[in-house]
Amino acid sequence: MPHVALVTGGMGGLGEAICMKMAALGYRVVATYSPSNASAQEWLTKMHHLGYGFIGVPCDVTHFDSCAACVAQVEKEVGPVDVLVNNAGITRDMTFRKMTKADWDAVMHTNLDSVFNMTKQVMDGMTARKWGRVINVASVNGQKGAFGQTNYAAAKAGMHGFTKSLAQEVAKFGVTVNTISPGYIGTRMVTSIPHEILESKILPQIPVSRLGKPEEVAGLVAYLASDEAAFLTGANISINGGQHMY
Ligand code: NDP
Repeated sequence: MPHVALVTGGMGGLGEAICMKMAALGYRVVATYSPSNASAQEWLTKMHHLGYGFIGVPCDVTHFDSCAACVAQVEKEVGPVDVLVNNAGITRDMTFRKMTKADWDAVMHTNLDSVFNMTKQVMDGMTARKWGRVINVASVNGQKGAFGQTNYAAAKAGMHGFTKSLAQEVAKFGVTVNTISPGYIGTRMVTSIPHEILESKILPQIPVSRLGKPEEVAGLVAYLASDEAAFLTGANISINGGQHMY
């Protein structure tokens, strides 16, 4: 039986590339999407036409019960989750002076609470089966901080604290837990940044002199999910074109 990989926010820029890579490697891939995502069926249809048999399941990662229902449905219809990629995330960038409690909460709930909400649903099964992979998608800005991102940087840094602790608890059961910290990748999260800011402020910070490609991040996720990566746990792997050497 091929492994089952579940990718939260699987229909977003990075999520889609991760789903494609995992499918190409033979995983059965579940892409979750927000219940409010009106184009989810259209995306699934497009992917089916491209030859990808992704399973789409709605899941609001900010709500524990929604995550429980999602994983229960996956276990029933597809099988137990072997690889969990906590990829769903949002930004609400603004200076701390302007940031409201709602802006803080939205980012913490979507980027950090989500990691607890989803991992909680799958961890007992992984440890019982003595194999599992949890891959948390954080950010370079969780490593170095960023102007206008107190909420996002705190949530992404928090993900790695979670990773390091859980990795210690579950290592003896054949389960690895890792964080990846991408730099600027050319998805809508980044291409929505005004062009002048990208050109004048962001690209000059990146020694490789370009945005990363979603497929480059997907390749790293695939490696962490593999059997070959069994000795790699509790790490925070930077993938940022040399922007921040951590
Ligand atoms: P996108 O905006 O393209 O994708 C984000 C995904 O998160 C969407 O698929 C969205 O699902 C999902 N999502 C948001 N809120 C919820 C929610 N409440 N419940 C379920 N799903 C939700 O961004 P990227 O693909 O660029 O980002 C993916 C991850 O990578 C994020 O965690 C981001 O912080 C991180 N990252 C991205 C970088 C970049 O340069 N692009 C750099 C560093 C980190 P839906 O569309 O169904 O609403």
